[in-house]
Amino acid sequence: MNDCIFCKIAGGTIPATLLHDSERVIAFRDLNPQGPQHVLVVPKRHIATINDLTPADAALTGEMVNVARQVAADLGIAEQGYRLVFNCNADGGQSVYHIHLHLIGGRSMRWPPG
Ligand code: AMP
Repeated sequence: MNDCIFCKIAGGTIPATLLHDSERVIAFRDLNPQGPQHVLVVPKRHIATINDLTPADAALTGEMVNVARQVAADLGIAEQGYRLVFNCNADGGQSVYHIHLHLIGGRSMRWPPG
């Protein structure tokens, strides 16, 4: 996937602030953070949307959640809590068509606040 920005980050041709790099998954800081901590957990393999997953990808998506859990612990936000989000297609607000799990924390996500 030559034009995919997250494939380029996974391949090391576009820089990112990596917080995790293992055989199948990377995690890096979001360029436009929606909270004090905002990390994207991304499979190295190109998968365009959540709709493109198959049951055979269950281990990979489980690994992504596990990486998010570990990164949250490393960032020191595990106890106060955080949000994990997958956006899918236009109505879901997806802008990069390579699946990614948003890990957002460091502030309250409650709505209304309080
Ligand atoms: P989504 O709207 O769910 O597709 O999220 C895509 C996310 O990727 C947005 O939060 C962007 O800020 C983020 N993003 C786009 N390009 C980069 C990049 N080069 N490095 C880090 N984050 C990026």
